[in-house]
Amino acid sequence: MSSENVQKNVVLAIFAHPDDEIGCAGTMANHVDAGDDVHLLFLTKGENITNMDGSPEELVARRKAHTDKIEALLGVKVHFMDFPDSRIEYSVDNGYRVARKLRELKPDIIITWRDEGPRGHPDHNNTHKLVVDATSYCRFKDPGSDLPPHREAMNVFIGRSFVGGGRYDFLSVDVSKQYDKIMQFIEIYEEAYGFPHMEKIWDHILSHGGLRSGRTRYAESFEMVMGQLPTIETLPPTPGFTWLSDIERKL
Ligand SMILES: [Zn+2]
Repeated sequence: MSSENVQKNVVLAIFAHPDDEIGCAGTMANHVDAGDDVHLLFLTKGENITNMDGSPEELVARRKAHTDKIEALLGVKVHFMDFPDSRIEYSVDNGYRVARKLRELKPDIIITWRDEGPRGHPDHNNTHKLVVDATSYCRFKDPGSDLPPHREAMNVFIGRSFVGGGRYDFLSVDVSKQYDKIMQFIEIYEEAYGFPHMEKIWDHILSHGGLRSGRTRYAESFEMVMGQLPTIETLPPTPGFTWLSDIERKL
């Protein structure tokens, strides 16, 4: 098959607020490099941010300026919905609203928030639940939409929690070649919020992902909530946990 005939995927990352996408920046950049159509959808415009001063309108404008930079850096298309920041409600109607974006963008792959229960931001938890429900609602009749149902299979991934645990099997995406781009991404938000040492912290997080993957220097880790992995002839063994010193010996 020539490269022109390879089926490209539509990747849709759905989060509550600008900057929530930090854990999949390298993965989105990998998909863009592979020629996939990558969309980043925020359910809110982030007007309720507490570590920036200004009116809601000013904050929305400033946060949009940051996501404009992210859009240009990663080569993704950014979209916003107008759910109120810190007041995203989990309801059937809101599930259908998110489903209408799935009808419009027709994703093959979705990346979204985990539901962390009492540990998580309610907007993040509700985003997770609305997105999972939307993958069903987008298949149904919807009097609120003129768009046809989106009934193709979708794989839904969540970022793996840094605090451990995890309900689902996890997989790692090697983002070593995106390291510089991820650091530029971090710089945009570090400058925006004035958080110190973000690059150093994120280097550790990506290294930890690489360590857990057993095979790469830097990785972003995901769990697959719904969907199906590619068909293979034999079941894979675990790549196994590898000590950083072993990885460095191979590099
Ligand atoms: Zn958030």
